[in-house]
Amino acid sequence: MGNIEIFAQTSNWIITVLSLVIFSITTLAIRQGKLPAKEGLSYIYLGLLLEFMTIYTTHLMTVEYARGQEIDWLVFAQLFLLLISMLFLAEGALKLMMGNISSTLIIVGLGIIGFIASAYFVFFFPDNNVISNMQTIFTIAGFLTITIAFWSQTHLRHATGYLTAALSSSFVLGIIILKNFSATAGWILVDSWYITPLFYNVMAVAYIAINADFLASRLENAKREIIKYNRRIEEIIKSSPFPIILSRISDDKIILANNNAIKLFGIDERELDHYRLKDFFADAENRTLLTERLEEEKEVKDFEVLVKSYNGDTPFWLLTSATTIDYNYDVVLYTAFQDITSRKNREALLKNQAIRDPLTSLYNRRYFEDEVKKRIDQARKTNRVYSVLMSDVDLFKRVNDTYGHKTGDKVLIELAAASERALRDGDIVARYGGEEFVIYLADVDAEKAKVVAERLRTTISELEIPSDDGRIVKFTISIGISSSKVSDNIDTLIKTADEALYKAKQNGRNRVEIFNPEELKHIDMANKALHKDETANRHPIFEKEDKEEISLLDGIVENKIMDKATTIEQPNKEPKE
Ligand code: GH3
Ligand code: MG
Ligand code: MG
Repeated sequence: MGNIEIFAQTSNWIITVLSLVIFSITTLAIRQGKLPAKEGLSYIYLGLLLEFMTIYTTHLMTVEYARGQEIDWLVFAQLFLLLISMLFLAEGALKLMMGNISSTLIIVGLGIIGFIASAYFVFFFPDNNVISNMQTIFTIAGFLTITIAFWSQTHLRHATGYLTAALSSSFVLGIIILKNFSATAGWILVDSWYITPLFYNVMAVAYIAINADFLASRLENAKREIIKYNRRIEEIIKSSPFPIILSRISDDKIILANNNAIKLFGIDERELDHYRLKDFFADAENRTLLTERLEEEKEVKDFEVLVKSYNGDTPFWLLTSATTIDYNYDVVLYTAFQDITSRKNREALLKNQAIRDPLTSLYNRRYFEDEVKKRIDQARKTNRVYSVLMSDVDLFKRVNDTYGHKTGDKVLIELAAASERALRDGDIVARYGGEEFVIYLADVDAEKAKVVAERLRTTISELEIPSDDGRIVKFTISIGISSSKVSDNIDTLIKTADEALYKAKQNGRNRVEIFNPEELKHIDMANKALHKDETANRHPIFEKEDKEEISLLDGIVENKIMDKATTIEQPNKEPKE
């Protein structure tokens, strides 16, 4: 700008230096950020700083010249500073327009040429005209490049900062041109000292605005990215063959559900935010468990939940995978479901098949034994009593013979149903085999069990079942009772109840008998005999297995011994009719 008026008064140059300090601070401030143009802007700042120094050298020159001193060195210094200033401004402008290009070599080269030219025209062949032209050219070239650079950036979406910089540098460029080429215009503005500090301040504002514009456009891009990301998530969810729900973590409200989920849960699409994810969990504990697992792991896979539709009655099973994602400025739960009701039903059916008797649908013998073992363990811990009943249809062969096997089956089905009806919920009734049934009565001793058994016996004796050919079938049962007084071993309990049943048959059928614990001894002895019996029947190879090597000839050689093995005959339980 070359306005030496700045130095005419102390207050003027103090204000100018202060403005320059403000400009320096803003330049330093934008250098801290991520602004990509900061390199270019820093070079422009340095160029302007050097340009300020040339104003000072001009002032010195005037002072020295007035004192009649040699000013060759000052002229040279001023010319050289102007040259460097122009080069910095040009470098800054290039960086602004083309990104961070490296043009250091060109700058240094031009600097050297300029240096030689300045020295040549100042010291060796002094030419005031040439010097004056060079001063004008350097200044105008510097300002022209940055003006072009600033204007070139005003196409950006957020360009308030560049527009401010472009307008102020255009203004200064205009003044420089007027000052150099139009003598008449000299009297307006041109020599006003305040233009320089004003320019620095406006540039400081422009720099801050450029930074703010950059941040605004970054924010806008980020928002656009988020919108794109949300759309992609929505597309993925909408096109998924599985029901998917997005729910906000903070309040569990549903914010997105695809058609499959809408149908599955009976959701009204227009009022999505009326629903919460937990509304669909048939078991609230399941929802809590899912949250707990999500707190531990980022993603939960194959989590089985029992769910219900919004107005639904029958719950159904779903396999769930859930993970937390960012969506629409929220942290949300992405939950995908797979209907596994039929698989669950099949599992339940298989489980049922494994523990139920297909004819009567009562529990089978294996389930009874396993379950009663557990019950006895519990009862023992709490000192509670229990009884085991064994029942058998009297003369069932006759029913089959008289009415046919099919009617016999029907009798068994009715008998099972009647027995279940006659007992309490906590009792267990099972088909032990053929037409024999076992019953476990909780909290009931032998005497009370007898009352229950009598009631059951009477109920059964009153049943009237129509046979296939329209006749009425009536029948009775005999029951044997054992109890916690006898044993806490399920096998012994069944055996002794069977023993009592045998007695009931012997005593005339359609009766109830309690096992007498006194008779346990006989059973123990019979058991021992039975055990001995079993060892006698073992193949000779097993006798040898622990002691010596086993040969393929084993057993063949010793077959004779096996043949001779004696067996103790079991007592015949068949009662005489
Ligand atoms: P008792 O009073 O001594 O018990 O005489 P019983 O004729 O009932 O003799 P037992 O208990 O030995 O006979 C059982 C009969 O039950 C033999 C078998 O044909 C019949 N039975 C076993 N299972 C079934 C079944 O599933 N359906 C039908 N219809 N009959 C069965
Ligand atoms: Mg029988
Ligand atoms: Mg029988």
